[in-house]
Amino acid sequence: MAEFDYDLFVIGAGSGGVRASRVAASYGARVAVAEEHRIGGTCVIRGCVPKKMLVYGSHFAEELQDASHYGWTVEGMKFDWAVLRDTVQRDVDRLESAYTATLDNNKVDHFHERAVVAGPHSVKLASGREVTAKYILIAVGAWPVMPDFPGNEHCITSNEVFHLAELPKRVVIQGAGYIAMEFAGIFNALGCHVTVVNRSETLLRGYDDAVRDRLLQITLARGIDYKFNSPIRKVEKQADGSLMVFAGDHDPLPADIVLVATGRTPKTAGLGLENAGIELGKKGEIPVDAFSKTSCDSIYAVGDVTNRVQLTPIAIREGQAFADTVFGGNPRSIDHDLVPSAVFSQPPIAAVGLNEGQARNRYGTIKVFTSDFRPMKNVFASRPERGLYKLVVDAGTDRVLGIHMIGPDAPEILQAAAIAVQAKLTKADFDATVALHPSMAEELVLMR
Ligand code: NDP
Repeated sequence: MAEFDYDLFVIGAGSGGVRASRVAASYGARVAVAEEHRIGGTCVIRGCVPKKMLVYGSHFAEELQDASHYGWTVEGMKFDWAVLRDTVQRDVDRLESAYTATLDNNKVDHFHERAVVAGPHSVKLASGREVTAKYILIAVGAWPVMPDFPGNEHCITSNEVFHLAELPKRVVIQGAGYIAMEFAGIFNALGCHVTVVNRSETLLRGYDDAVRDRLLQITLARGIDYKFNSPIRKVEKQADGSLMVFAGDHDPLPADIVLVATGRTPKTAGLGLENAGIELGKKGEIPVDAFSKTSCDSIYAVGDVTNRVQLTPIAIREGQAFADTVFGGNPRSIDHDLVPSAVFSQPPIAAVGLNEGQARNRYGTIKVFTSDFRPMKNVFASRPERGLYKLVVDAGTDRVLGIHMIGPDAPEILQAAAIAVQAKLTKADFDATVALHPSMAEELVLMR
């Protein structure tokens, strides 16, 4: 008789949990995973993937608008939200099945119910059943924060936004981070009137100043309104079912939906961590060491619940490294530096490495190279919007410390360029690379 029911019990079947389960099982571990919502987690079910499909769907507006400049006549153009929404949800269903098949193919047992920690080696399922395991991995992710103001029950978060019955005419979005700027772009492109209200005057905190300012200018010109330094005070429901938003000192803003996107907090409430002696960090996160181990030797945590870097590829890497370390005899930790990231705003932003301020603080003297250009496709389409690329370089070693971009396809281009930053290449290496002409990406090797 085995000492425990399983070698590994994973709580949460999202990006980190599924990767860890599959890899641990491939090393011969007996693995089970519990998921209270849908298999796939935030990224697949209500995050990155369906969001990106909405970005694609909404981007046709720009392409169709520009098409006439290239000789196309597009007659009878109209948009049907229900078609896009349902297509996205069908693909989410397909992906959920694919993730479930991955678990089945690797002989990972799955429980479709909530599980909480009952002790260092045991979890309790919602059905009341207690299951024991040599190791427990917590990969429950994060959940949208809803600030406390009267009427917040009338607001939605990114959890609900994918399921709207109809396309709203007026959208108020609170927050000016990733989710706010991505959905501002989607709704604006689909023809909704969008107002972004934020508590500070900063959008996309942490990204390069000039890049953020370019996004602000372009989106203002596209018709998005901004109310900075204006947190929502209250939201009132009107007799006709619409909403009235009171933000800062502004006149009330009428809205059909209010999307709140004010960060995501680790989903640790009620998880029973105290039963294993684990204390939470200041933001509700589970503190872990470099190998994702908590203060309890048999319990590990990966992904958003640890609040290190809230990005899917990081959760996947942490899940993989956990399985390699604990079950593969290959102890590995993850480097959280130099993580490429993108905001799928319209136009999108992408960045890797240090911004100017961070580079100056860390390296002293730096050089900054900038290309401010009008993409060829915008010139043809009489679209005045310009792209902006920046390289931040250490003046002492010539090493490229950071790349910051806004412009069409910036995330696609940045992913390849991030290899050069990861490989510690120099500005001279960029200069020695022959331009691929005509492209937007060639700007990266033509900055002098
Ligand atoms: P972000 O942290 O990106 O932005 C939060 C925004 O809400 C900021 O503008 C912030 O203002 C504001 N804010 C924070 N707390 C409050 C509060 N209590 N009251 C009012 N305003 C507040 O969070 P998101 O929700 O947009 O996204 C969560 C995370 O999900 C991101 O950090 C990212 O890691 C991940 N994500 C990644 C995506 C990608 O990779 N493309 C896409 C979507 C999400 P201020 O800055 O002024 O303080």
